[in-house]
Amino acid sequence: MDNPLLEMDGLPHFSRIHAKHVEPAIDNLLASCRERIAELTSRVEIPTWESFVEPLEEIDDRLNRAWSPVGHLNSVMNSDELRVAYNACLPKLSEYGTEVGQNRELFEGYRAIASQEHLDAAQRKLVENALRDFHLSGVDLPADKQARYKAISQELAKLTSRYDENLLDATNAWSKPITDQAALAGLPDSALALAKQTAEERGQEGWVLTLDFPSYLPVMTYADDRELRHEVYQAYCTRASDQGPHAGQWDNSQIMDRILELRHELAGLLGFGNYAERSLATKMARSTDEVMGFLNDLAQRSVTQARRELDELAHFAREEHGSAGLEPWDLSYYSEKLREHRHRITQEELRPYFPVSRVLEGMFAVVQRLFDIQIGEVEAVETWHPDVRFFEIRDNTGELRGQFYLDPFARQKKRGGAWMDVCTNRFHTSRCDQIPVAYLVCNFTPPVGERPSLLTHDEVETLFHEFGHGLHHMLTKVDYPAVAGINGVPWDAVELPSQFLENWCWEREPLNLISGHVDTGEPIPEDMFRRMQAAKNFQSAMQMVRQLEFAIFDFRLHQEYDPEQGGRIYEILEQVRDQVAVMKPPAFNRFAHGFSHIFSGGYAAGYYSYKWAEVLSADAFSLFEERGLLDTDTGRAFRRNILEQGGSAEAIDLYVGFRGREPTIDALLRHSGIAA
Ligand SMILES: [Zn+2]
Repeated sequence: MDNPLLEMDGLPHFSRIHAKHVEPAIDNLLASCRERIAELTSRVEIPTWESFVEPLEEIDDRLNRAWSPVGHLNSVMNSDELRVAYNACLPKLSEYGTEVGQNRELFEGYRAIASQEHLDAAQRKLVENALRDFHLSGVDLPADKQARYKAISQELAKLTSRYDENLLDATNAWSKPITDQAALAGLPDSALALAKQTAEERGQEGWVLTLDFPSYLPVMTYADDRELRHEVYQAYCTRASDQGPHAGQWDNSQIMDRILELRHELAGLLGFGNYAERSLATKMARSTDEVMGFLNDLAQRSVTQARRELDELAHFAREEHGSAGLEPWDLSYYSEKLREHRHRITQEELRPYFPVSRVLEGMFAVVQRLFDIQIGEVEAVETWHPDVRFFEIRDNTGELRGQFYLDPFARQKKRGGAWMDVCTNRFHTSRCDQIPVAYLVCNFTPPVGERPSLLTHDEVETLFHEFGHGLHHMLTKVDYPAVAGINGVPWDAVELPSQFLENWCWEREPLNLISGHVDTGEPIPEDMFRRMQAAKNFQSAMQMVRQLEFAIFDFRLHQEYDPEQGGRIYEILEQVRDQVAVMKPPAFNRFAHGFSHIFSGGYAAGYYSYKWAEVLSADAFSLFEERGLLDTDTGRAFRRNILEQGGSAEAIDLYVGFRGREPTIDALLRHSGIAA
């Protein structure tokens, strides 16, 4: 059969992959997976690592290698045909996943191996995780409950995909043509140029605003026209809901309720009291009390400071700009004015210093020094879009350790946000030698005309974040996919390398490497650097409580779910806002309808992970503060103890291996400018 998804001879053949290949490839692979599993479980001899686990890892790996480019293309090059094909596969994959998870003979095979002596630490961890996951898939349940588990998993797979589609469609559906430039007063040149380019691409006159982030954010931050900000805000935070300009058209309301209901039922089937407990079964945090205690403690430490910051902002807006009162669509606008007033610095002022190619070179130089690796671009690799670039990483012996695609710019039909995803995993046995390959996806402002793409410092930080995930995936030395790279790492520890790496784009020496003015090549001047540093913790408590609002909302939503009462989504959100928010959004706000992290991503009852891991990342960085930011010994220790180990040991043990002690919260509070 001529199907590029079934050719496993190297990198995916992106230029030849079409929607029509998807279902046949997955059908074919699932059939051969099932055949192979039947063969493995029917053998009479006692299973061993080589005769049982390795072949099973191979089965998973083949499936991943075919499915990964499909899921990826569905996110970055969405089309109607691909969407249909992708969705047709979801229930099949979910069914297969549950079937494997509930396969008693496979479970017994892993049990037999768990009792064998000669396993190394990574192998032992893999087997432990596998046994845990069998329980979490319902291997111990009676047949009727197993069937119910399978049905729930399938329905959830469909619903979460539907949630994302609604959000993407609602985002794409809204745009605002503008023919009078005066209406865009306040917007920086970069945003005007982007709006103009968008209009040209669509064959329209003047300027076009969209809800893509590079268009949305500058309007909220700079547009002097308050009514315009109000309109764009309303369109953005009512996407995929019963409110706003497309009310009811892509409404996620029922989907969200049903997702919560099914998660709760699934948790109950497995013997958990709620889905938050189920979520913690695979995480570093030990109990729901520990998580809520952690979040409430941070909230208590920051909320007073956050309210003071808002008062300052309101005072400033009134005194300096005659504002009669702040609404949510005024926050970014006056905040930027206050930042400028107080610290004489703006995101736009920094932008010319961060041409994307300079930032990349500089970031590579930083990590090359820290982790003793080499990164180089490889030309002529097949990709899915002309903007995409391809790189490889070698260690100091010249050994190829990993490769990655970088898809930097926002465009239509591409999911918003930034992320790292796995293309292939490291897999090293006597029969195969596969290196890890990653997708790094961002939604930066694209180049406009002849002008190269210039990043804001926020975007630079995002790039460092995703690259931290990428290094975790690519520098792994673990040989088995299930615990290599980010696999098998608890979600509340997985943000350690990413948030850790962000720190470097705030320091002088690294900034000399990552900044270079687009016209002169000059790095950030000293005076500007000082102002940037001074502004770093501007409104940091307001940012902290915003993250806590999301985290507490997510956790309570899943912990307190009661089938009698339904989701109570906005009721709980309202209570959380009473506790931590500095400003109540208007009644039409439908934030949760676009909160894909928890409804369709992997962060359900897990959004707290960002703050949890930030304790680790801040504390890890503090060792560099003690020993020197580009201290190579410390960098290599981080590589050896964290980046190379993936999920091959308990997260806390790996951390203590690096830091020499358990983490403390002090560095996080200090870095956030919040009094301990
Ligand atoms: Zn991340």
